[in-house]
Amino acid sequence: MAEMDCEPTSKEGEGQGKPIVVLLMGAPGSGKSTFCEHVIRSSTRPWVRVCQDTIGNGKAGTKSQCLKSATSALEDGKSVFIDRCNLDREQRAEFVKLGSPQVEMHAVVLDLPAQLCISRSVKRTGHEGNLQGGKAAAVVNRMLQKKELPKLSEGFHRITFCQNDTDVQAALNTYSALSHLDTLPPGCFGQKNPDAKIQLGIMKFLKKVEVPVNVGPDANFPKHPLSTQITKEKDSCCKQPEDISSSSGNAKEIKGGEDIVVHSVDGTVSSKDIPTLAFPSISTADFQFNHEKAADIILEKVEEFVNKVENARLVLVDLSHGSKILSLVRAKAAQRNIDSNKFFTFVGDITRLYSKGGLRCNAIANAANWRLKSGGGGANAAIFSAAGPELEVETKKRAGSLIPGKALVVPLPSTSPLFSREGVTHVIHVLGPNMNRQRPNCLNNDYVKGSKVLREAYTSLFEGFASIMNTQGNLLEGSSENLRSELSVSQDHFKGNHIKNVPNHDQKIKRVGVYESETSKKCKGFQDEHEFDCTESKEGKDNLNNEKIGRNMTKTWGSWAQSLYHIAMHPEKHKDNLIEISDDVVVLNDLYPKAQRHLLVLARSEGLDCLADVGGEHLQLLRTMHAVGLKWAEKFLCEDELLVFRIGYHSAPSMRQLHLHVISQDFNSKHLKNKKHWNSFNSAFFRDSVDVIEEITNHGRATIKGEDSQLSMELRCHRCRSAHPNMPRLKSHISNCQASFPPSLLQNDRLVLAPSKSGSEP
Ligand code: AMP
Repeated sequence: MAEMDCEPTSKEGEGQGKPIVVLLMGAPGSGKSTFCEHVIRSSTRPWVRVCQDTIGNGKAGTKSQCLKSATSALEDGKSVFIDRCNLDREQRAEFVKLGSPQVEMHAVVLDLPAQLCISRSVKRTGHEGNLQGGKAAAVVNRMLQKKELPKLSEGFHRITFCQNDTDVQAALNTYSALSHLDTLPPGCFGQKNPDAKIQLGIMKFLKKVEVPVNVGPDANFPKHPLSTQITKEKDSCCKQPEDISSSSGNAKEIKGGEDIVVHSVDGTVSSKDIPTLAFPSISTADFQFNHEKAADIILEKVEEFVNKVENARLVLVDLSHGSKILSLVRAKAAQRNIDSNKFFTFVGDITRLYSKGGLRCNAIANAANWRLKSGGGGANAAIFSAAGPELEVETKKRAGSLIPGKALVVPLPSTSPLFSREGVTHVIHVLGPNMNRQRPNCLNNDYVKGSKVLREAYTSLFEGFASIMNTQGNLLEGSSENLRSELSVSQDHFKGNHIKNVPNHDQKIKRVGVYESETSKKCKGFQDEHEFDCTESKEGKDNLNNEKIGRNMTKTWGSWAQSLYHIAMHPEKHKDNLIEISDDVVVLNDLYPKAQRHLLVLARSEGLDCLADVGGEHLQLLRTMHAVGLKWAEKFLCEDELLVFRIGYHSAPSMRQLHLHVISQDFNSKHLKNKKHWNSFNSAFFRDSVDVIEEITNHGRATIKGEDSQLSMELRCHRCRSAHPNMPRLKSHISNCQASFPPSLLQNDRLVLAPSKSGSEP
């Protein structure tokens, strides 16, 4: 791109003296802001930089604020830099509309290697949008997966691609030298051949980088950086006639990725622990269902599921990059804004997702035939063959055939290679409608009936997956009951598989797989000091008590999680440690207080393990617990009126027996050590007692917020909401932060203040 150093500017012809909008495009850390600042400093043309991170009075704002500000700068005859990532076409579309016969629209693409952007953004401090430190790697990675290089046909007059520092310097020179009368020639400049090596570099780099929660290996795959990148580049700018440097981009399709292991920084759960169902498109290949219609149904059902379930992922898998159904679904998912952490597409062999693609799935769906037999072709043959004879045996035990629209959950024995090699614990057979005359029960193009059956098939499939999650003890947002009624389909096929009938080896899976991952999560963070290293301890493994949770779900409490329960059941044995005992509750100081004042109010009722167990019949008890908590908070406020309290429950507590936290908001404690501790009191995971009482009064149950999503969130000050890279920095900040609490906490008596402070801003 050296030619840009001496690229001629023109002072003649159309466009002379027109304001320009330059849409910068690039990942965080690619140098967009530096680029703008440099040009603005050195140019004689009047420029305005519009940055979404600061557009709201120095704080992050909205796209429409950016558009408004850009429009007004253009009206003043100024040229504008739009400084935001603009990585996909949709994000750019509205900005491109700023272009007109009077305003030239340019793009400068800072398409630098991902590892460079990641290390820059991880290292930087004082970033306007607070995107720095550990979380930055994840965000950059996620954003890059959305990257869609711009085309002139989007409405650009000129696009400049920069793939290295030299390119960036050349583009800087070009724009810096531009006086307000100059124009630049139209066209695409600087794009080189797409180079898969760069992306392989990213993958290797990500192996080394420790990436925070929810962005583990699998999160790289929602839009596989290797395959997506290459495909996108192949069919975007390279093909344009005006692209001076393109080749036809004969990039090979890469199916799946390498086996990638990424560890979380703070020991929190990685995405490998998220229950994941991989499924092929049902009825579209052999059964010849219309692809458009099928894609709509897939998304309708996926959306229904992901909106209900907090902590699970669905992955649509196809062997081929060229798959029409996959691209239709991908496009429609983007239109519908479906959370790509919860649903994504994947190119690869469904029987080798982990070993070849690094994607962990605990369940896979099989587009089965009605006889539930191996053979045929496609996924059915591949899955039966990969699972070994065990799958046939286990399937036969459960059913001899399947009717269209139904699914059958089959647990895999640990001897099955699919289990041992891929980590798949269940295969769910599912049969969709048939539109193929060569096959039995053809619906002869009756799409009314066909769509109904296909909907039922996906409902049944996802419901089967939900039933596996239940048996494995994962929490759904809302009860499984709720999910089932939402998915509204007959339960017949699950009667044998739902909770009450967990086969022996499932129990083993539960212990070996899910239980250990849960406990190791706890041991790494949420767990407290007295709770020994349960991954190592025999006691931790052997002394499991499987108890009911959430009326319909099982939860395993280790012996380490029982102390509050024992105290509540036998307070007389613990008198020395208790500060109040009544018929309904006992009160004690938290053994590992996370703030100057931290009490627990324990319910004394047997069978009330946690919030999920609470219903309308417990309202009186909840009110009593609240009143006791409030009384103690008020007592402490008499001693120190500077304190502020919150009173509430953890959505999914680590200790058995319903208990209310009464905690001062200074969070000044040596026991407050990690992100999980912090977020357990400072995210939606903490349910204020006033809200719980209100919800139970109105709906008979309390909202439970998912552990994975809430506890792994970035560290933010509970007062001013600023983000901090680690606990020491956060603690140092909160020791000085005097900002008022956010409005959400100031409402509904969520904060308990000294009477002298009530009415004034805490
Ligand atoms: P949760 O996550 O809501 O279950 O919180 C349990 C709380 O119990 C934590 O704040 C622990 O510090 C506290 N804790 C654990 N063991 C004891 C104990 N034996 N006595 C008092 N508090 C405890």
